[in-house]
Amino acid sequence: MAHESLFGVLRELIEARGPLTVADYMELALQHPTFGYYKHGDPLGRAGDFITAPEISQMFGEMIGVWCAEVWRMMGAPKAFALVELGPGRGTLMKDALRATRKISGFHDAMDLILLESSETLREKQREALVEHAPRYVESLADCPAVPTIFIANEFFDALPIRQFEKGFQGWSERLVDIAKEHRLAPLPYPPHEGEGIAPRAVDAIGFAFTLSAPDPTYALMIPEDTRDAKPGAVHEVSLPALGIMRDISKHIAKNGGAGLMLDYGAMQPAGVATLQAVSCHRRADVFSDPGSVDLTAHVDFGMLAAVARKDGLATHGAIAQGEFLEAMGIFLRAAQLKQHATPDQAKDIDSALHRLTDSSQMGSLFKAMAITPPGLRDVPGFGR
Ligand code: SAH
Repeated sequence: MAHESLFGVLRELIEARGPLTVADYMELALQHPTFGYYKHGDPLGRAGDFITAPEISQMFGEMIGVWCAEVWRMMGAPKAFALVELGPGRGTLMKDALRATRKISGFHDAMDLILLESSETLREKQREALVEHAPRYVESLADCPAVPTIFIANEFFDALPIRQFEKGFQGWSERLVDIAKEHRLAPLPYPPHEGEGIAPRAVDAIGFAFTLSAPDPTYALMIPEDTRDAKPGAVHEVSLPALGIMRDISKHIAKNGGAGLMLDYGAMQPAGVATLQAVSCHRRADVFSDPGSVDLTAHVDFGMLAAVARKDGLATHGAIAQGEFLEAMGIFLRAAQLKQHATPDQAKDIDSALHRLTDSSQMGSLFKAMAITPPGLRDVPGFGR
C-alpha cells in the first residue's frame, strides 16, 4: 500500500507485526527510502535542525586535519593510504582538514579520500565542497582498499539505531514502540435503560508510545555483567550497527594499519538512563511527534566501542573530553593566530566559537574524543601520554 507519510508506514507495520524495537523505529525514521529524515534535505546548519562542531568553526576541522597528518607521519608516512570519513555532513570538516594540511609534503599525494554517506542530498554537498580532492564513495567499509587507513567520524555513531532494555522488578524487558490508542467512552444515555451497559468504546489511534515487552531472562544475557543488577528503572542502550561498524574499522586497521578518531556525545560508562532524543529546528522535540521530520540520536557508548577495538588487538585512547582534545591539538594557539588578522567582530566570533567547542558548559565535556590505533603507536596526538 502506498503511504503519504512515515506515520502510515509505521502504523501498518505495527498493526501487522506488533510493536517495533526502538532500533527499527529509529532506522525507519532516519533511513526510510522515501520518508527517512536523512533521505530528504539537509538537516545541518543554522537554517536546519542542528549545528555540529565543524559548522561552528573552521578550527575544528583544522585540528582534525593536523591530527590525521601527524598520525600519517607516525605511521611512517606511507606513500599510499586511505582517509575515510563516516557521515561527512556537508563536507565542511574534511574541507577544513585538507586545507590545513595542504602544505604537508606528500600527505595529499599519498591520500585516497573515501566517504561513507547514506544521504544523496549530503553527498551532493560533499562532492561540491571537496571537488578538488576527488572523493569517492563506498557503500560499506568492506569496500575500502587494503592500505593503511585513517578513519574519522564526527557525530556519526549517535545517528545509528539503538535498542533499549529496561530493568523492572521481574528482570529485564525491551522497550518497544507501539501505537498509542485513545479510549473514548461514547456518552452514556441518561437515564440509563435497564440492561444497557457501558456503551462500546471507540478506539482512535493517535500516535506512538513506548511499551515494555514481557520480562525475559534471555535479555539479561545481553546486558553487560556490571549493569545486569541495576536498580529497577535503569535503561541499557546498545547499538548493534555501531558495534558492527566499529568492528569493521578495527579489523581493517588491525590488518592494514592506520588509526581511527571518533568524536561524539556520550560516555565511557553510560549513566543507565534512556538517551534517545529528537531535535528539530535547534530545539528538543518529541521522539514520536513527527517521525521522519525530526532528527533522532542517542548517546554513544564509548566503553563498548573501545571494547570492540580491543578485541581486535588495538589500543584505545580516551575517550576524553572534546575540549581537552582540542586544547591538546592546539586550538587556542590557532584561535590566537586567526585573531591577529581579524576585525573586532571576527575576533568576537572566533572567541565565541572557541568557547562553544571547548568549554565544559557547552560542547567541551559532553562531547568526547576517542582514538584507536595499532598497539605499537605511542603518543597519539591530542591524548597526552
Ligand atoms: N560529520 C558531520 C555530519 C554529522 S550528521 C558533521 O559533523 O557536521 C550525521 C551524518 O551521518 C550525516 O552526514 C548523515 O547523513 C550520516 N549518516 C547517518 N546515518 C548513516 C548511515 N547509516 N550510513 C551512512 N551515513 C549515515
